[in-house]
Amino acid sequence: MGREQRSGERTLSIIKPDGVSKGVIGEVIRRFEKEGIRVVALKMLHLTKRQAEGFYVVHRERPFFPSLTDFMSSGPIVVMVLEGDDVIARNRTIMGATDPKKADSGTIRADFAGNIEQNIVHGSDAPETAAMEIDYFFSKLDIM
Ligand code: ATP
Ligand code: MG
Repeated sequence: MGREQRSGERTLSIIKPDGVSKGVIGEVIRRFEKEGIRVVALKMLHLTKRQAEGFYVVHRERPFFPSLTDFMSSGPIVVMVLEGDDVIARNRTIMGATDPKKADSGTIRADFAGNIEQNIVHGSDAPETAAMEIDYFFSKLDIM
């Protein structure tokens, strides 16, 4: 009864506080699963301001950093590890552009996001950031 060896890249996905409060957790996950992307870890948590600042440390010099980290610590979020071939890029395609006004129709952000800050989802942008971001939230033992 060995565990299955699965192949594929991994990425970190977050359903941000606006996605949770708008009631689209299931819809977001459905869009991933429909594309054959596997959820291999998942939890809900409410970040402190400090934890949000730690997660978005690469943006600390940006003018939107204080507001972004207030938003990200304003309510519960759902963090997930997604797995599949080319999942980093595929997830970002499913999410759509950062600014929902520029996002392709049918993407998560075009369909649900209010503005460039409150844009429903986060997705890692490269293998190195995916590895760091997965580590920020999950231990090896949490990932199936
Ligand atoms: P994410 O990293 O959340 O997946 P992204 O890679 O599309 O999104 P980034 O440029 O990394 O976007 O910005 C991180 C997050 O910061 C965005 O998702 C958004 O919530 C917020 N953000 C980005 N640009 C702005 C802006 N000009 N004004 C306000 N908030 C912004
Ligand atoms: Mg980003």
